[in-house]
Amino acid sequence: MSGTALLRGVKQHQGPLTAELVREPGAFGLGQVPMRLKPDAVTTSVCGFCSTGCSLKIHLRNGEAVNLSANSDYSVNQGMACPKGWEALTPLAAPDRGTVPMLDGKPTDWNTAANTFARRMKRIIDQHGPESVAVLSTGQIVTEEMAFLGAFAKFGMDVRHIDSNTRQCMATAATAYKQSFGFDAPPYTYADFEESDVLIFFGSNPCIAHPIMWQRVLMNRRNPKIVVVDPRRTETAMAATHHYAIQPKSDLMLLYGLAHLLVKRGAVDRAFIEASTTGYEAFARFVEAFDPLRVSRRTGLSVEQLHEFADLICGDQRVSFWWTMGVNQGHESTRTAQGLINLALMTGNIGKPGTGANSITGQCNAMGSRLFGNATSLLGGHDANNNEHRAKVAGVLGIDEARISRQPSLAYDQIIEGVAEGRIKGLWVLATNTSHSWIDSDACNRALEKLDFLVVQDMYPTTDTARRAHLYLPAAGWGEKDGTFVNSERRIGLVRKVRRAPGQALSDFNILRLLASAWGVGDMFKAWTSPAAVFQMLKQLSKDQPFDISGIEGYEDLHRCGGIQWPLRSGEEPQEKSECRLFADGKFFHANGRAKFLFDEPRPMPEPPDKAFPFILLTGRGTSAQWHTNTRTGKSEVLRKLYPQQCYVELNPEDAKVMGIGNQDRVSVSSRRARVEATVVINACVQRGQLFMPMHYEEVNRLTFAAFDPHSRQPSYKACAVRIAR
Ligand code: SF4
Repeated sequence: MSGTALLRGVKQHQGPLTAELVREPGAFGLGQVPMRLKPDAVTTSVCGFCSTGCSLKIHLRNGEAVNLSANSDYSVNQGMACPKGWEALTPLAAPDRGTVPMLDGKPTDWNTAANTFARRMKRIIDQHGPESVAVLSTGQIVTEEMAFLGAFAKFGMDVRHIDSNTRQCMATAATAYKQSFGFDAPPYTYADFEESDVLIFFGSNPCIAHPIMWQRVLMNRRNPKIVVVDPRRTETAMAATHHYAIQPKSDLMLLYGLAHLLVKRGAVDRAFIEASTTGYEAFARFVEAFDPLRVSRRTGLSVEQLHEFADLICGDQRVSFWWTMGVNQGHESTRTAQGLINLALMTGNIGKPGTGANSITGQCNAMGSRLFGNATSLLGGHDANNNEHRAKVAGVLGIDEARISRQPSLAYDQIIEGVAEGRIKGLWVLATNTSHSWIDSDACNRALEKLDFLVVQDMYPTTDTARRAHLYLPAAGWGEKDGTFVNSERRIGLVRKVRRAPGQALSDFNILRLLASAWGVGDMFKAWTSPAAVFQMLKQLSKDQPFDISGIEGYEDLHRCGGIQWPLRSGEEPQEKSECRLFADGKFFHANGRAKFLFDEPRPMPEPPDKAFPFILLTGRGTSAQWHTNTRTGKSEVLRKLYPQQCYVELNPEDAKVMGIGNQDRVSVSSRRARVEATVVINACVQRGQLFMPMHYEEVNRLTFAAFDPHSRQPSYKACAVRIAR
């Protein structure tokens, strides 16, 4: 049967779907993307690693990708790509790709796998209730798949708890924006990197974490001041005009200290504050207590440095505030992110070129997950307890409104806690590597061992998490399926199928179709025939929301325009290479149209150093060639040459001398939770009393301390107490 006939079969088929009916076609075979391509052609696709959202030109032979290059005709990356992007096709051909479903470690067929999934999950729910099964998803799959997963899990399976690995990177930014602006809305466009006079990077190392964004900074012709706030002298700090090496987790104190100085100097934008914000007077009173002496003691910066920093923010210049994981992954991260938002608001640095309180996202589609994951908010940023929203979502999806639970989902940490306590007995993990990436990973893995049924859906059966699975479902990766990603600047970009997935691996989209059918709810999702069809539903869900994209006709518009930033409302014409910045009119998304000043007293670090564990361990990204738990970047010989293969720890030269430790010595690093081995790299970029280890090595999260921000429930990966010994 030809591929076209197979798809026709799916559309016409009335009974349960079987694996035969969703078999994957070759690249471009079934026209899921309505733009037909010649077999030997060049097409484009947005990169599937980080949130920058670079466009890659994909070179095809006989309809399959054989090579790629950076797209020079795309506003985001303008002909540039980082090592991960250049090597994006390599992980698809890795020898350990999953090619068949595996049940209890043995190969099986898709129909058995789908039926086993349904039978065992249903048995758990029948015996222990809908709260006994949970889902952990990802910011790595396309938006259409995220929406399908969230809808199937919550409305089809009646599972109550679904969260994703965006909890580990972006929950703080999402929470901070929602509370401050009334909606999760990063306000900027990448042109702001080039239009700013002062760029302040807080806990952010774009040189290696977002290298193409850093290239955009280097294209700034305004001779900008570049300020880095980071305990380490990172690659970005070395390139900056100003580096403030604060003590770990003293960032909130510093932000309040800066606000104190700005208030004292009267260096605030009164007109903007009065027209567009609430809570300023209370905030100004609150920061009175954060005088330079107090702030200097906690941050380790001198009083002179604090005044110098305040000087940089004052005046008429355009100031932009950028943050990443150094802020998001902290025990008081939401208030810290809002400390930056407060500075932007009080100085009127928002809604204008070169300004903004700008969170830089992590994963390629974390932004899509924030809007359409159906996890913390009802699909499309809606509220499950708002009757109008419930009716709208039910209407667009064509489901019974009673299927929408009003109960909020547990957050990731609460799901793991539920697993550890035996309340959650069935867990379905998609495209994330919980065993490696979750904080205090030994405790997490002890919990996973208790599960009655662990299902892992991933490109590889070899990830730390997939190895533990009772049922493994082989998934297609980036490049093997169609859909859209949303990047850090809210640009929706097109992702295209340019390779056939190996063996029997299926796109997550088609796996979901199979599972829905096996669950007995195939009819509920009969309109979910392709990512392009789902995109039309997402448009309807977005209508009248702050991220309204009802003005985008379909994938052709995204392709033609070089991605489109939200919002683009019905009646607005999509423009090629357009840039869109939020809040130019000074109107925010709270009912009164104003942004809020939000603040709290800083709290001490959850696990400070002491006699037994005298060092503070900092964690972060190692190189631009590594991505998260290295499941994909580890497959590339080229990338492997660009980073050390063994886990390493950076140690200050003075500390090394005192302890008699030499460069490249093997040492043990211990916390209260584990002891791991690492190779020493003596490096003056870390301060005395501090160590740095990159998160890409499995060992590192065995050491980290499980503390969470109370608002976002994002884990505080960045600082815990350890000791080091030869
Ligand atoms: Fe891909 Fe990010 Fe590298 Fe761009 S910067 S090529 S999006 S990994």
